[in-house]
Parts: sequence; C-alpha cells; structure tokens
Amino acid sequence: MKILSKLILMLFFLLNFNFAFGWGKTGHRIVAEIAYRHLTENSKKQIAEIIGNQPLAYWANYPDFIKSDLESYKNTSSWHYLDFPENLNRNQFDDFLNQSTDRNLYKRTLTVIDQLKNREGYSNDEQIVALYFLVHLIGDAHQPLHLGREKDMGGNKIKVKWFGQPTNLHSLWDDELVDFQKYSYTEYAAVLDFHDSDFNRNLTDGNLEDWLFDSYQESAKIYSGVKDGDELKYRYDYEHVELLERQLLKAGLRLAKLLNEIFD
Ligand SMILES: [Zn+2]
Repeated sequence: MKILSKLILMLFFLLNFNFAFGWGKTGHRIVAEIAYRHLTENSKKQIAEIIGNQPLAYWANYPDFIKSDLESYKNTSSWHYLDFPENLNRNQFDDFLNQSTDRNLYKRTLTVIDQLKNREGYSNDEQIVALYFLVHLIGDAHQPLHLGREKDMGGNKIKVKWFGQPTNLHSLWDDELVDFQKYSYTEYAAVLDFHDSDFNRNLTDGNLEDWLFDSYQESAKIYSGVKDGDELKYRYDYEHVELLERQLLKAGLRLAKLLNEIFD
C-alpha cells in the first residue's frame, strides 16, 4: 500500500511537471535574497525564531516541492497563480480578485499574511509554512504570466522555441530567461539591488492589489510581443531582460516591505 501511494504521488508529480511552477528555483531565491537584504534587524530576529538561521532563499521554493508531496498540500497548485480575462480595467480587475475562490494566489497571500500577523494563534509548524508561502507567493505574483490570461493558461499553451528547444511562454519566463543571464542567485540579487532608498520606496508604493494589477498589465506587454510557434533567442532576451529584472527587484523589495510590516 505504501509503495502504491508513493507511485501515485510520483505520477502526480510527473504529470504536474508539464505545468510551470512559477519563477524557477533561481528566480525565487533572487527574490528572497533581495528581500533579506532589506529586512530590519528586528524582522530578521523574529523570522529566525520561526524558521531558524538558514537564509530565506533556502526555503523560497518549498511550496513548489510540497505541491507533489505532503498529503495536506497536494492540491495547492492553484495557489500559485490567478488567470484573468483580457483587457480588464482596474475596477473590473478588483471585482475579479474579490469574486475569486479562496484557492488562488491573491486569496492565499492574504491568508498567509493574516496568519503571520496573528501568529500567536498558530502552531510553530503552521507559522513556518505560512512564512514559506509568503516568500514564495510574492515571487510568483511578480512573474507577470502568473497573472496572465485564462484562455492560454498564463502562457502555458503558447508553444515557442528558445534557442531551438521547445518550451512555452510561461516556462520561458519562469526559468529559461532567468537562467540565460548566468548569475547565481546571490550575484543576481547583488547586481539588481543597488538603488538608493528613494528609488526603492517608489517601487514599493501601493498594496497587494496594486502590485497584482501591475503584473497583470506587464503580462499584456509580454503577450503582445510573441505568438504561438515563435523561435526566440538573443533578440527576445535583449528586448525583455529589463522587464524581467525589474520584476525580480520589485518582488524582493515588496516582500521586504510586507515582512517588515509583519515582523518589525
Ligand atoms: Zn509557485
């Protein structure tokens, strides 16, 4: 029985593999590392009391792993994104957010923020998971195709080639574009995070809903620059690396803002 359930879990994992997970491992670590650089000493101390001293970046991908493992988190794939109809204005976007079920990126982010703000009501294990999810979901919230279109599943259905290798638009933005830059996560965090505090404060203006709408608008730009079957290479990188890097930086700084609001 045990072997059978393991096999089923493995199958579930393999099937899931077709669908992209959000920023790949490096992307999520970059976001967590940038955030860590902007935590107050008190926030760092409070966070260490929950998860210990290992860097946030180490845990940033945990929610992608448990999707296919821990029994209680098996059906959490939908927590990582929210797909929309096209061309929503801000009011329509907010209505869509509010009417959505509680099993998506927006609602789960609100839930884990609430859990961490009221953490004395939760066990240490629950606090740990909530923290891992917050670090991860704020990353996903800044991969624009996690706030993409319903009709192509956030770009998963748009098949493209990246330097001759078959992939899809969603995966390209999760993984290949980040990896193409050939930085480690600490190097990438360092080269992106050099601005003065006024610049950074500008990027962290607004609230979660503003940030999600921002990503949704960026996703429209990504969609307009590509079509199914495109063969992409250097030029695509050249034209999109600025957006990619801005999204990673925004995610890191905004995560730090949330964590400092919760823990400082
Ligand atoms: Zn994810």
